[in-house]
Amino acid sequence: MKIKFNIKHILLALILFTGMNNIYAFPAHQPVPGGTAVVELSSADTPQPVAFFKNQRVAVHKHDDAWYALIGLSLNTKPGEQTVRYQFDDKQFYQHTFTVKKKTYESQYLTVKNKRKVNPSEKDMKRILKEKEIKAAAKNTWTEQAISTEFIRPVEGRISSVFGLRRFFNNQARRPHSGLDIAAPEGTPIKAISDGKVIQTGDFFFSGNMVYLDHGQGVISLYAHMHKIHVKPGQLIRQGEIIGEVGETGRVTGPHLHLSLLLNRSAVDPEHWLPETKTQ
Ligand SMILES: [Zn+2]
Repeated sequence: MKIKFNIKHILLALILFTGMNNIYAFPAHQPVPGGTAVVELSSADTPQPVAFFKNQRVAVHKHDDAWYALIGLSLNTKPGEQTVRYQFDDKQFYQHTFTVKKKTYESQYLTVKNKRKVNPSEKDMKRILKEKEIKAAAKNTWTEQAISTEFIRPVEGRISSVFGLRRFFNNQARRPHSGLDIAAPEGTPIKAISDGKVIQTGDFFFSGNMVYLDHGQGVISLYAHMHKIHVKPGQLIRQGEIIGEVGETGRVTGPHLHLSLLLNRSAVDPEHWLPETKTQ
């Protein structure tokens, strides 16, 4: 397809370029495994609905003239018809259906020098299992706090790995990539993508130094492989506040920030929520 540029396009590009820092995303409806389904529930003059997807609470957000459910679709969501149920004070249930489309993710082959990070020892496995519980507890956080959808990018840099890639470490199949990797030098400050509260911090076998932030309504961001952590559990964080530094701790091939975004306990592609990048 050939694209013709005219003066309008050039002007628009200029406006977009100069205003880039101010462009925020209300996530688009991306009904695919790993996407965010944006489903209109009711008009904005109703009370705030309480919504469920697969018996999990889902984030509800008022935007323009309506209440929307922002539903995280995990990578193993089956394509086909899905239902979001919601209710008001009268406890009666209403529902909307939406169709999840198929999406195929590419494969990625990575070579990790530290072989134990690919084939952990028995002692490592004990640690990994303990950490799994801590991670599950962090993921389960729910606070009624209203969310903002106006996220900022935590670090500016080259995207070294996109969300959803089917991964092979040293030629062995592992779980698909649950976040977005942004390459940056060690020590680069990491900004909180939105206001939130620190749920958990720690040094994890695979994720290295990691911070979980709760943004309300089951919307959680996670920052991994950090060089240094600058925050403590329970701490309230403003959007843009420095929570730590980029590093290469855990299972990595070089310094980068791994950012995950969790909605209703499901990791979704953070790119659907982030503003355009300035540098690409
Ligand atoms: Zn990653």
